[in-house]
Amino acid sequence: MKPLDVAVCGCGPAGLAAALLLARAGHRVRIFERFETPRPVGSGLIIQPTGLGVLEELGLGAELASLGARIDRLCGRVVPSNRVVLDVRYAVLRGGQHGVAVQRPALFGILSRAVSAAGVELTPGVEIAAVDQGGARAQLLAKSGQRLGDFDLVVNALGARSPLSMPQARRTVLPYGALWANVPWPANSPFPANALEQRYFRASRMAGILPVGRAEADAPSLAAFFWSLRRDRFESWRAASIADWKREVAELWPEAAAALDGIVDHQQLIFATYDHFTLRTPWAGRLVHIGDAAHSTSPQLGQGGNMALLDALALGRALHSDGDLQQRLHAYARMRFWHVRLFQAASAMFTPFYQSDSRLLPLVRDWLAAPLSQLPVGSRLLARLVAGMTVPPLGKSR
Ligand SMILES: Cc1cc2nc3c(=O)[nH]c(=O)nc-3n(C[C@H](O)[C@H](O)[C@H](O)COP(=O)(O)OP(=O)(O)OC[C@H]3O[C@@H](n4cnc5c(N)ncnc54)[C@H](O)[C@@H]3O)c2cc1C
Repeated sequence: MKPLDVAVCGCGPAGLAAALLLARAGHRVRIFERFETPRPVGSGLIIQPTGLGVLEELGLGAELASLGARIDRLCGRVVPSNRVVLDVRYAVLRGGQHGVAVQRPALFGILSRAVSAAGVELTPGVEIAAVDQGGARAQLLAKSGQRLGDFDLVVNALGARSPLSMPQARRTVLPYGALWANVPWPANSPFPANALEQRYFRASRMAGILPVGRAEADAPSLAAFFWSLRRDRFESWRAASIADWKREVAELWPEAAAALDGIVDHQQLIFATYDHFTLRTPWAGRLVHIGDAAHSTSPQLGQGGNMALLDALALGRALHSDGDLQQRLHAYARMRFWHVRLFQAASAMFTPFYQSDSRLLPLVRDWLAAPLSQLPVGSRLLARLVAGMTVPPLGKSR
């Protein structure tokens, strides 16, 4: 296929990985981002074996491993009994699988340095509003009304609230979100340096600590701390004193209290809310949707960043295949069809067991699902699910 003029909208993991793959394949790529100085949003995330595979393929795996924290186990205990009800061990999978938890600035830095080394032009400070597909090529339009150029292909990587995913996306905003903060990794930490630790009280309270490594080579190691919160309680949380909230955390999880010593102000925490939707067809004409713009969900299974990287890889491979543009975009959608649907369905199913007002679901979680998941076959199935490996991530092509 002859080189295409491609507009990649959004500088998140999906947009940066897609821009890199397409530029390296010889396409002329421009990125558009709303921030004047592109920057990552949020705190930390786990790159699963699927996402690590994509970063390896991009030649960025070693850099990621040097900054991130290797994760071998996800462990969740119920309060007050301290019983383990979630125990995911990557070691039960063949091939030395593991996750790598990273700070978002680390992942952003690694991808954006590679993107600029590949000669991709970045236009910051523009809010994308629409794509006009009336002519021979796709016109990209800014919110200001400015026409940003016409392209053979527009890649929508604008995340969960993308205006380009409308009107196809039927969004459900989930009732629970979470407060997030990056905090110093506690000195003499009571927590293992290679595990995500969580504590639950029913499904209405949940807290977690995840080591996320360093943002840059000479920066300190941090942990991501998160606290589940209903959307409609956010305002009352903000109106109360931060000391009250820290007392609440300490009641649930006394060992975690020291990690919050440096938090003295509500502003130090970000409140993330979650949308759930899956686009039925992730392309139309010259517009293709990837990452959270194509499928968004709660981070309960920790797959969103990985799915974004997999979408970018699938798009890169599909554009390299035979046929005209429409056939290639159809090939992209086919590659990702089952993987996306499985993880979207699994996230929708699991989230209320960990974040809801239900009394019944946490009982099922603790007394039925937990014992089953500790059987050898159960623990392998769970580890494969968390690793993103339950079905082939790129369909039959991989
Ligand atoms: C609290 C939290 C924890 C998470 N934990 C995990 C985890 O452990 N593992 C995991 O895999 N995933 C996790 N996720 C999900 C993951 O962060 C997302 O799935 C991932 O960031 C999606 O990448 P993306 O590139 O599609 O979109 P985004 O990362 O949302 O990037 C979108 C980009 O587009 C830009 N943009 C948006 N609108 C416009 C516009 N109109 N014009 C111009 N630019 C615009 C934004 O500024 C941003 O740069 C978590 C998410 C949250 C909120």
